[in-house]
Amino acid sequence: MENIYDIVIVGAGPAGMTAAIYAIRANMKVLMLDRLAPGGQMINTNEIENYTGAGKLSGAELAIKMFEHTQELGVEFDYKTVIDIKNGGPLKTITCEEDDTVYKARAVILATGTVPRRLGVPGEDDWAANGISWCAICDGAQYRDKEVVVIGGGNSAVEESIYLAGICTKLTIVTMFDLTADPKACDLLRKMPNVTIYPYQEVLEFTGTERITGVRFKSTKEDATERYAPCDGVFEYIGFSASSQAFANLGIVDRTGCIQADTRMTTSLPGIFGAGDITVKHLRQIVTACSDGAVAANSAAAYVESLK
Ligand SMILES: Cc1cc2nc3c(=O)[nH]c(=O)nc-3n(C[C@H](O)[C@H](O)[C@H](O)COP(=O)(O)OP(=O)(O)OC[C@H]3O[C@@H](n4cnc5c(N)ncnc54)[C@H](O)[C@@H]3O)c2cc1C
Repeated sequence: MENIYDIVIVGAGPAGMTAAIYAIRANMKVLMLDRLAPGGQMINTNEIENYTGAGKLSGAELAIKMFEHTQELGVEFDYKTVIDIKNGGPLKTITCEEDDTVYKARAVILATGTVPRRLGVPGEDDWAANGISWCAICDGAQYRDKEVVVIGGGNSAVEESIYLAGICTKLTIVTMFDLTADPKACDLLRKMPNVTIYPYQEVLEFTGTERITGVRFKSTKEDATERYAPCDGVFEYIGFSASSQAFANLGIVDRTGCIQADTRMTTSLPGIFGAGDITVKHLRQIVTACSDGAVAANSAAAYVESLK
């Protein structure tokens, strides 16, 4: 007999786990799937200091707490990589890589998140999440009265640089092209007294022995001048990749691969919902992912009830 769920949640990061908690408390038959250990990007986060009420704790600790919460409530979890989703009207089909496993569900919540792009230069892996960060709001406070380098020149890089320049003593921006962000934000950043901008540069390596100590980069112009910016920390903003390959053909993602969802987290396809970083949104944080998960589960449960 086919195993039919009310709601299948793809992704067990904070969005997926919160969706699972809200869905099971709405009396839904719930299955949560993740290709990796539950926790999503929290697993790779050294310290979390901005999740309301939790104080200071490691990403792994918060991931375990959230997962235990889902298990106490009886959420079914399976390690599976979802490779395809078919929107077959009232029953959706979720196909996984492992043994061609197929699940059927009345509603699906997609909470597969994004992955920050990396430069792939020497030293990057050595200092990832321990000197190199992808989130100024999360880690910026550690660099009060210190020197940082920001890599990138788009909207995220410029907005986060404005935020960081208010915290640290010196901020150096190294970017492949010129600043491409909103002109007003660029003007504001250029006027900040502790900011130096190096456009048309290629990062060569991150240096350090016991901690990160600087960034070596060179001009992409004919002179190819090499420079070195000493620093206590680096923030990389060179874009992100949306984890939406499994459902890219459903017509619910934009050109960046992110899901277009409304304030109820519904997509243009009835019964298919988005939550967390994979949706088009302004602030990608644990707390906003959890919020999306709660809203998506509430909408998905109402949708399932409407089918009865
Ligand atoms: C280095 C770093 C530090 C951060 N620090 C903080 C912080 O201090 N505070 C804060 O609030 N935010 C922080 N963030 C942001 C925060 O981690 C994210 O906003 C949050 O994790 C997004 O949650 P999510 O559930 O939407 O996605 P994710 O956490 O990305 O989880 C998505 C899950 O989906 C799974 N998945 C993807 N595709 C598939 C598939 N095809 N099949 C099965 N499973 C799949 C993934 O394995 C993953 O477990 C940080 C981010 C980074 C990168």
